[in-house]
Amino acid sequence: MYDYLIVGAGLYGSVFAYEAKKRGKKCLVIDKRDHIGGNVYTEEIEGINVHKYGAHIFHTNNKKIWEYVNSFVEFNRYTNSPIANYKGEIYNLPFNMNTFNKLWGVVSPEEAQQKIEEQKKAAGITEPNNLEEQAISLVGTDIYEKLIKGYTEKQWGRSARDLPSFIIKRLPVRFTYDNNYFNDRYQGIPIGGYQAIIEKMLEGVDIQLNVDFFQRRDELTPLAKKIVYTGMVDQYFDYQYGVLEYRSLEFETTVLDTTNYQGNAVVNYTDRETPYTRIIEHKHFEFGTQDKTVVTREYPTEWKTGDEPYYPINDDKNNNMYYKYKALADYETNVIFGGRLATYKYYDMHQIIGAALEAVNKEFSKD
Ligand code: FAD
Repeated sequence: MYDYLIVGAGLYGSVFAYEAKKRGKKCLVIDKRDHIGGNVYTEEIEGINVHKYGAHIFHTNNKKIWEYVNSFVEFNRYTNSPIANYKGEIYNLPFNMNTFNKLWGVVSPEEAQQKIEEQKKAAGITEPNNLEEQAISLVGTDIYEKLIKGYTEKQWGRSARDLPSFIIKRLPVRFTYDNNYFNDRYQGIPIGGYQAIIEKMLEGVDIQLNVDFFQRRDELTPLAKKIVYTGMVDQYFDYQYGVLEYRSLEFETTVLDTTNYQGNAVVNYTDRETPYTRIIEHKHFEFGTQDKTVVTREYPTEWKTGDEPYYPINDDKNNNMYYKYKALADYETNVIFGGRLATYKYYDMHQIIGAALEAVNKEFSKD
């Protein structure tokens, strides 16, 4: 008999299991995949920690959460400074003075601001009706054409004119020569990969891999007093209100016999023609000096039931459906629904940890 059956060995399930174990509770963690870690899983290939489900950079403004993750492993000083490759031209991201200098030859922030204002004015958009108009009204035509349009269209699989404007509420524009993508105070990559954190969290906890909750629901449910469920919320309720939609990704990973392929961990391909959105060169997350290198191309794809769900499509239709599922979830007194899939929301890692710790506080404040 267990106190908790935790469905999903991702970050949310692992934080919950660790905290419950600390409080003397017995947990069984199951995952349908053949590894722990969920989407933060890293696998060592050629001595390099490969981010198997896309580049994961830890960043937060929350000191407590930073100290929490650092209590499991040490973090390095990696700073995310992606670059954009537009038909062979290289630009710094996020949009900053380095980008503007390369685009227009401008040197001062005032000149850059002027250039953007001119382009916004020339476009004459007062009420943006779609993503294209929204982006142009925020940053002007040049940045939109070279750095936003193709990338966004590949990401969503449709023309920017057919995408709603709300997808980009604001765009990170910085009038300093600063290529640091995040504004957060703390940032880095765990030394030894994310696996090192998850393994520590799940030390001494019973784990069963390759187990799909829904294939053994009747047998698993009576094993524990309570369930922590981090899978898809619509599946839990048998899709009775319909299927919540996602965008998916395919990853193509290659080992190359060279020490340095692209000189940066993350390179975004912002033209429409290149079929992938970015190439990740994993060794650069950890300043690797291995003889070989491992690169991963990321291809956005349409999602259908059974594919890996990566990005929820939080439009009105899906959100309204989610609220119905949430109402059902709120009735389930013996199940804690948590994590990105059970709450149908994109979360960064620090937010997932924060949410799991909040659930822990709520759960154990009664003891
Ligand atoms: P998951 O990691 O998805 O864990 C859920 C687990 O449940 C999975 O292992 C799944 O196999 C299992 N499961 C589901 N259904 C069942 C079932 N029926 N039976 C058994 N097991 C089941 N965050 C950042 O902070 N920085 C980044 O740079 C960053 N980059 C990202 C890049 C990509 C491409 C993506 C998709 C996400 C990124 N994130 C990033 C977000 C980060 O991945 C999430 O915050 C985190 O992984 C969520 O953890 P989770 O436990 O909620 O979900």
